[in-house]
Amino acid sequence: MKRKVIIIGSGPAGLTAALYTARASLKPIVFEGMQPGGQLTITTDVENFPGFPEGIMGPDLMDLFRKQAQRFEAETHFLHVDKVDLSSRPFKVWVNDDLYESESLIIATGASARLLGLESETKLMGYGVSACATCDGFFYKDKHVIVVGGGDSALEESIYLTKFASKVTLIHRRDELRGSKIMQDRVIKHSKITVKWNSTVDEMVGDPQSGGLTGVVLKDTVTGDLSDFSCDGVFIAIGHRPNSDLFKGQLDLKENGYIITKPGSTYTSVEGVFACGDIQDSTYRQAITAAGSGCSAAIDAERWLESQE
Ligand code: NAP
Repeated sequence: MKRKVIIIGSGPAGLTAALYTARASLKPIVFEGMQPGGQLTITTDVENFPGFPEGIMGPDLMDLFRKQAQRFEAETHFLHVDKVDLSSRPFKVWVNDDLYESESLIIATGASARLLGLESETKLMGYGVSACATCDGFFYKDKHVIVVGGGDSALEESIYLTKFASKVTLIHRRDELRGSKIMQDRVIKHSKITVKWNSTVDEMVGDPQSGGLTGVVLKDTVTGDLSDFSCDGVFIAIGHRPNSDLFKGQLDLKENGYIITKPGSTYTSVEGVFACGDIQDSTYRQAITAAGSGCSAAIDAERWLESQE
């Protein structure tokens, strides 16, 4: 059956787009993807989403988003889209071998924080390990945290974390930072920040059931020596990767892989295809800004569909 709208992705952007398009009687179908609920499902407490004065757990918040969209008959599936064809309308979307066709498409596939890939990192994610200082920095008042990375994100997050932490140690794998000169100067001069050069995190230590992270094992990238390093939190800031592989060669992307949207809208380079949330925003990357752009995408899609009739 040909759909009016298919939504790919189920973070705050995708599920808000689902809520709005469902309330507009467009009967959206949502393919939730590999990580249903998106990045918030790997955080614990969310304290900066308006409307929850006591805070809410990330996965619980996303369950509420989903339920609210389902209340208006948005159809949500824990399925992953394998392939799309945007060359003609209706657009084609393949899930396994099943083909779905739609007059419009809302892309909300988000971005994923790059991680180090350690088993201990996965185990302690949300229990002392985070990939988002804006989300979790507040929990580290008067604590010692480390930030891993040497680019602008790591520098910015290190400075941000000094608002809460008593001490921030920046762990960088080389002896030279990648980030902008002005940010480097701020970090180097900051009284609360120490840079540990030529170091990587080899292991994260702690137990999620009893207090979480207690420290890390560092590796000297020059000598290969390992050493224990105590800390209360680890922030991984080695970049994000937009989940745009499906659309390469079909939509205009920025050099860094983010989808280009027309300024002031969620229109992409293909008419009838809209993008919202982190897949088109490398600047703000917040749940609330993603939800806002999901709403914009739904309204853009609805108006565009009307204009086609
Ligand atoms: P980035 O510039 O790609 O930097 C990533 C950093 O992580 C690099 O220093 C890299 O080390 C390190 N790294 C990568 N993989 C690693 C690994 N496996 N283990 C240890 N370290 C690893 O990413 P970003 O900092 O997120 O910035 C992305 C873009 O956004 C940049 O263009 C940046 O300028 C921009 N940005 C701008 C602002 C701002 O202007 N306020 C803020 C944030 C980001 P190497 O240096 O050795 O490669």
